[in-house]
Amino acid sequence: MTKILSDVLSNQQLTGHDESHIIWLDDCTGIHQQALPAWKAMSEEAKLAGFDLKIASGYRGFDRQLTIWNRKFSGQQAIKNQQGEILDINTMTEHEIVKSILYFSALPGASRHHWGSDIDIYAKNLLPDNQKLQLEPWEFAENGPFYSLSQWLTDNASRFDFYFPYDKFRGGVAIEPWHLSYWPIAKYAEEILTIACIKSVLSNAKILGKNEIMLELSNIYRSYIQNVGSIHYG
Ligand SMILES: [Zn+2]
Repeated sequence: MTKILSDVLSNQQLTGHDESHIIWLDDCTGIHQQALPAWKAMSEEAKLAGFDLKIASGYRGFDRQLTIWNRKFSGQQAIKNQQGEILDINTMTEHEIVKSILYFSALPGASRHHWGSDIDIYAKNLLPDNQKLQLEPWEFAENGPFYSLSQWLTDNASRFDFYFPYDKFRGGVAIEPWHLSYWPIAKYAEEILTIACIKSVLSNAKILGKNEIMLELSNIYRSYIQNVGSIHYG
């Protein structure tokens, strides 16, 4: 990377409050403009290997993540446990609800999808006609439709500076074999996203469970935000 790092992301962009770093590939799919050449190069090579790569979810702003969070916290949207069963939030403490949401969904302001460096991907040509994309681990595991894609990405993504931050369960966020991160941007974002920075955006937000989140913020930061994989160049 020859780019000056401070050009990569501002604080506002880091926390999903400014999307001027994003290039839109269609109405709802955006990616950091500096990640676009690598994404294009990887897509072209994947095509030669037989994979029609698509981004299921790229950039997501703070408000969108806040809506997801509040819908889950209030019970409007189901929260599942690690076995995929729907939880009854009426029997749970706020502490338990926050932890359960964080297993699958990021804290608003701390989502890697704010950065534009992170994308959830799949191969369109491998999705069976009668099947809806779920983004669940079985789809990328042996016997799943995207198993060959998973293997190809494991072998090739790092050549394009992409890697899997959620390659395995580390006690925080669930395994996400579809979630790729573009290292030159993500590395920088990880460095500048401090607890103080998250605290300041959440203190002004209408987020449910705010007291519990603030109380637990250093634990959340350690277990769900910093607790991720890194790039391994082959
Ligand atoms: Zn993702």
